[in-house]
Amino acid sequence: MANPNLTPLEDALDHLLSEAPVVAQIETVALADALGRVLAENHYVPADVPPADNSAVDGYALRKQDLHGDQPVPVSARIPAGAAPEPLKPGTAARIFTGSEIPEGADSVVMQERVEVTDAGILVQAEVDQGQNIRRRGQDLTRGELALKKGTQVRPNEMGLLASMGVARVAVLARLRVAILSTGDELVDPGTPLGPGQIYNSNRFTLMGLLSEAGCEVVLCETLRDKREATRETLLRAAESADLIITSGGVSVGEEDHVRAVLEEYGSLSLWKMAIKPGKPVAFGAIGGTPVLGLPGNPGSVLVTFLMVGMPYIRKRQGRNPKALSGERIPADFAISSASVRREFVRARKETRGSEPVVAAFSNQSSGILSSTCWADGLAVVPENTTVSPGDLLTYYSFAELLS
Ligand code: AMP
Ligand code: MG
Repeated sequence: MANPNLTPLEDALDHLLSEAPVVAQIETVALADALGRVLAENHYVPADVPPADNSAVDGYALRKQDLHGDQPVPVSARIPAGAAPEPLKPGTAARIFTGSEIPEGADSVVMQERVEVTDAGILVQAEVDQGQNIRRRGQDLTRGELALKKGTQVRPNEMGLLASMGVARVAVLARLRVAILSTGDELVDPGTPLGPGQIYNSNRFTLMGLLSEAGCEVVLCETLRDKREATRETLLRAAESADLIITSGGVSVGEEDHVRAVLEEYGSLSLWKMAIKPGKPVAFGAIGGTPVLGLPGNPGSVLVTFLMVGMPYIRKRQGRNPKALSGERIPADFAISSASVRREFVRARKETRGSEPVVAAFSNQSSGILSSTCWADGLAVVPENTTVSPGDLLTYYSFAELLS
């Protein structure tokens, strides 16, 4: 049974994604600096790649019709890679290397291992198929075709492809500028001794890492004390430099939860009790025209809500082409005997039992247990109102997929 007071993840995402403006600014960067950036325009192929027919092997280029039984074929030229070859003399072969251009007139390349070299020329010791061992001009990319779409995030693979097209500078969307505000009077930064009642601010660092991996620029990182005025001042200041403010803590209904109150008074706010576990309270609103994503305070909830709610939103704002998560269906290696009305994201990892993959769960799934997130490699999804017995198939998402 769905609980009417809880918002399904899909509904919250629909709302968020309908209000996710793509960053407007475009900048041009050297290809060497383009890793992780999002292409701001389509890339059409300016010239065929490869630019000419070339040899796939070290060997001899020749014309098949010049082969007559065991007659030697004289070698009339040597074509190193990088050279512009002369046309092949009829009735002869040219010594050729991997990547060397095929001389005009040749129609096949014979591997050097299939050839006996004699004083009179080469003896070809294998059947020759016309066209063999030739990589055709344009076989990778044909002039005029769309090679990479706007909205593609550049991986090493795309860097190589752009280079192969001769692209030296690329137009990319500006990085999404994000402010991280951790709320709580109890928080101190690592490096400072803990006083009574204090704990270290871990969310700040989890979020810094997540945002960096997601290709965002962290422009401001501060701890917000549980005071109304300080909360208002810092939120408004963050709104001036950031495209997105992410807060942690301070969004439940406790009297010290000022983020919620300030957004309600000075900006706008939608607050959801999300039907996910961990991570119930998530806020989304705006202040000073800048969207605010309010994550819960508990460290385990921060990771889960960032990955499941924050990442789809950030991807859209970064202008990246949408992609559906695929996950994997794997048998559970654990049991959950009491069903929850909330969808549970279990900190989990893939293991093997015998030769079969299974998904194992960390023993303590409480939302404050950060060590569970280091033990885990991903999240296993237990649907709403469902119990789990060992062997039941669950969807498992690796952290790498969720962050990509
Ligand atoms: P809150 O939502 O502010 O009530 O916080 C919920 C729980 O998360 C409390 O136990 C907080 O102490 C803890 N918490 C909040 N922010 C952080 C943080 N930045 N680092 C570590 N723990 C936090
Ligand atoms: Mg708090």
